[in-house]
Amino acid sequence: MAAQIIDGKEVAKITYKQIKARTAALREQGIIPGLTVIIVGENPASQTYVASKEKRALKLGWNGQVIRLPENATQQELCEVIKTLNLDDSVDGILVQLPLPKHINELEVLKCIDPEKDVDGFHIVNSGKLFAGLESFVPCTPKGIMKLIDSTGVEIEGKNAVVIGRSLIVGKPAFLLLSARNATVTLCHSKTENLAEFTRSADIVVAAIGKPNFVTADMIKPGAVVIDVGINRLPDGQLCGDVDFESVKEVAGHLTPVPGGVGQMTIAMLMENTVISAEARLAGRDRKTDASVLDGTRHKA
Ligand code: NDP
Repeated sequence: MAAQIIDGKEVAKITYKQIKARTAALREQGIIPGLTVIIVGENPASQTYVASKEKRALKLGWNGQVIRLPENATQQELCEVIKTLNLDDSVDGILVQLPLPKHINELEVLKCIDPEKDVDGFHIVNSGKLFAGLESFVPCTPKGIMKLIDSTGVEIEGKNAVVIGRSLIVGKPAFLLLSARNATVTLCHSKTENLAEFTRSADIVVAAIGKPNFVTADMIKPGAVVIDVGINRLPDGQLCGDVDFESVKEVAGHLTPVPGGVGQMTIAMLMENTVISAEARLAGRDRKTDASVLDGTRHKA
């Protein structure tokens, strides 16, 4: 039987509806969420991503601001801008669009962001909290992955999950989030031997590799939930994921499309993290974290 296709657009729509309601409640208390995105240089893909984030923030009626720095801006100049934003109480979320030009050390720059405004969840304080199972800003793409899995109604606890890819922004946090929800998780990568043996025993597969159509039907257990994070541009200009959609949909129980799956959720989760931060501003910034993604309560609510 063909897999049920997980509609990322629909799940994102539900999230935006919730964010709108939370924004309205904040407005009543005189708070307008503020999101500032900083972009350095002219990378065309980054320009597109930044424009979508700004558009979405403005659509929600927020203070959405983009700061554009030239390609040759120094690390110190960038950190100075971030430090000014850290002190600006009207800014709830600060996001530095990655990748940065090669002369800038990304990890050092991310460290300049106030962890309480780190809505991308990449600051080492937030990574450390996630690792320790404490409430933190959770990186947007893995957070979205968890919501998509929850949207299927499949219970995560006790399941075998395989994450392919161990990047700091997707694979590793996805591993931690699935583990926090009591899945038994295996983290695979380019040096994993006999990868298919791992994936074939998995009830949940998250593919975050960056290789077009890498995961094929013979690697998937019948009925598994398959989340395709990959965004790959084929020579003919078409987008495709890391999962061979046509063959895998005949075996999987649930499957995300590309486009229309995980990609839809990433910006939605950025907005959710920002509204959490704005709520924390209202509460005196003593709490701006998201336990719900760790225990699934937000989805169930
Ligand atoms: P990275 O390049 O940082 O990481 C890729 C990972 O895949 C690495 O851990 C690598 O292993 C692993 N890998 C590479 N080749 C193989 C292989 N043959 N077998 C098993 N594992 C392999 O990528 P990202 O995590 O940043 O992104 C992954 C994909 O997700 C990309 O297509 C990216 O565009 C997409 N993406 C989509 C987002 C969205 O919003 N939908 C957001 C972020 C990313 P090793 O560590 O050993 O090198």
